Amino acid sequence: MDLYSPQVIKAIKQKFGFKNSKSLGQNFLTDPEVIRAIVSGAEVSEKDLVIEIGPGFGVLTDEAAKHAGKVIAIEIDKDLLPVLEFTLAAHKNIEIINEDVLKIDLNELIDNVKIENVKIIGNLPYYITTPILMKLLESNLNAESITVMMQKEVAERILAEPGGKEYGALSVAVQYRTIAETIIEVPRESFFPAPKVDSEVLKLTLRDEPAVKPIDEALFFRLVKAGFSQRRKTILNSLSTSGYPKEEIAACLEAVGIDNKRRAETLSLQDFCSISDYFSKSV
Ligand code: SAM
Repeated sequence: MDLYSPQVIKAIKQKFGFKNSKSLGQNFLTDPEVIRAIVSGAEVSEKDLVIEIGPGFGVLTDEAAKHAGKVIAIEIDKDLLPVLEFTLAAHKNIEIINEDVLKIDLNELIDNVKIENVKIIGNLPYYITTPILMKLLESNLNAESITVMMQKEVAERILAEPGGKEYGALSVAVQYRTIAETIIEVPRESFFPAPKVDSEVLKLTLRDEPAVKPIDEALFFRLVKAGFSQRRKTILNSLSTSGYPKEEIAACLEAVGIDNKRRAETLSLQDFCSISDYFSKSV
């Protein structure tokens, strides 16, 4: 059964009386090349536990299960459970969990399975792409990589280097913890129903150590957030929203050699780290 074919999707919808939910971001993949690219991009092998976010009708789950030791797929929509039971019946190494990925304890899930190599994959529901990515990054997961489809515009923000208008707090957060690369660009026609935007699959390989090592990580992210909160302002002014007095920020920027008229979008991770460490040391 070619689960990616629009005819099969329509037949399954009819068989189970299933209606796509727009609000749950249910745009199903119909291009087998993209499905294979996600699983091969993640380099899934039989030594791996694959955690899939949002299996939908199970196209990616099916492909991952052919290569992985075990697949755990987290799907919020309970109406998809009977569908998945039907479409994935041939596999014995799949577990479906009916939960909200934003609420589930992923570390507990991983600890309960005695497989060391963990890879996360998914065609993300776009209404919560950033919260899912932030959860994955902030949970300190014992995982190797996150290979996921997202809106092209979000992928561009993640990959952006300092100096461009796409560079922002998301770029810093993802680049701090991972090495990001493009696996494949995906036009909107590769989905049914087609979304309004094009997409891109990124592989985020989790770093053993963060890209820079601020003394106080929470302070580093507080300053990054403040820096990008008012993108059009100078770094001197935007950092004032972090709670530090302007004179102290001016002294800090001078001490670390950053022109106070620059904007946050020109600052590298190392620049933010230097600013953060200046304040850590000055307490
Ligand atoms: N993997 C399938 C595919 O590629 O055809 C479906 C991808 S579809 C873009 C996103 C899937 O995520 C849907 O099945 C949707 O029901 C599910 N989903 C939406 N919000 C979710 C959440 N908070 N937790 C878990 N799954 C969610």
